[in-house]
Amino acid sequence: MLKNPHETPIHREPVPMVKVAGSHFEIGRQIGEAFREKVAHSVENAKSLLAEAYEQLELTWDGAKIQSRKYLPFAEERFPQYVDELRGMAEGANVDYRDLVTLNIMEAITTDALHLTRCTSMAVNETRTADGHVLAAHNEDWVPEDEDDVYVVHARPDDEPPFLAMNYGGLLPNVGFNAAGIAQLIDSVYPNDPRIGIPRLVVGRAVLAAPKLDVAIRRAIVPHRAAGYNHIIIHESGEIYSVEVSAQQFDTLYAHDGYMVHTNHYLTPKMHEVEEDPDSLVASRVRYHRAARLLRQNSKHTIKSLQAIQKDHVNFTNSICNHAVERKDPLDREKTINALVIDLTAREMHIAWGNPCQNAYHTYHLDE
Ligand SMILES: [Zn+2]
Repeated sequence: MLKNPHETPIHREPVPMVKVAGSHFEIGRQIGEAFREKVAHSVENAKSLLAEAYEQLELTWDGAKIQSRKYLPFAEERFPQYVDELRGMAEGANVDYRDLVTLNIMEAITTDALHLTRCTSMAVNETRTADGHVLAAHNEDWVPEDEDDVYVVHARPDDEPPFLAMNYGGLLPNVGFNAAGIAQLIDSVYPNDPRIGIPRLVVGRAVLAAPKLDVAIRRAIVPHRAAGYNHIIIHESGEIYSVEVSAQQFDTLYAHDGYMVHTNHYLTPKMHEVEEDPDSLVASRVRYHRAARLLRQNSKHTIKSLQAIQKDHVNFTNSICNHAVERKDPLDREKTINALVIDLTAREMHIAWGNPCQNAYHTYHLDE
């Protein structure tokens, strides 16, 4: 057990940001070039994780590369522009394209034995904030080794709305907001109906580019998807949805009273039916109820009040501010590698790099 939260890494610098523009290939290439080491490091981390987990998964990196080839045609067919981003990123970062594809499809090919993305997401609309802004907050919980690989992307694609996103390593950006006033937060869920299809990260990338609310929701449930995330999709008007997705089912939750919380278990009865292993998700339930109670205690939220919830340590180390780095199973080690609050009204993102209990938030703005 970690003795106290102060043993977590301290980051003196803000998360680095890159501004990119152009075609999707160009955007990927510019990200790869700016963060060459982070992209390469995340590929190396994924390779070591598979090696460490060989006894459980019996999957080598070469085996994973072969598997990932089956998913690629589905992504190419529906969202070729984001496969272009991966091609560009591989070229810019000077890493093997197939390695990068494998990294982005890894959740699918490890059949979700990697129970890693134990994130906590929240949103409040203008009826629940002190200044009438629409706010969203997300703790990104992931393998500790990738904390060094975090960065911010400020992108202006030729053919889609500009966006600001938190990202790490060689993944496609998913969590953030765009200039059309759509924000997306993502939490892993564990459906029992995965299949070969469009990888989740590609689906999430497409949602981040959506020009309208219904388009965002339809993209989250695109046909031929491989599995599903929970997508909290927020519009600047104060409309907040949580779209719970599996490969073949979905359901939506709507924030009737202006609050939304999601963690890593399905909330709707329909989706609970397709949850793979509910017993393993008890900590997710604890984080969910804790965040929901703290959120509902206040009807005048501010960026600071949401940040206070992100630092919460109830049920430490499996707390909202996650410090579970000392677990024996390599597939279960995780921590909060960044925490962010989006002010969708002001088009700003405030990000703490590492655990937010110990690291300061810095502000990033989407220029239009
Ligand atoms: Zn903490």
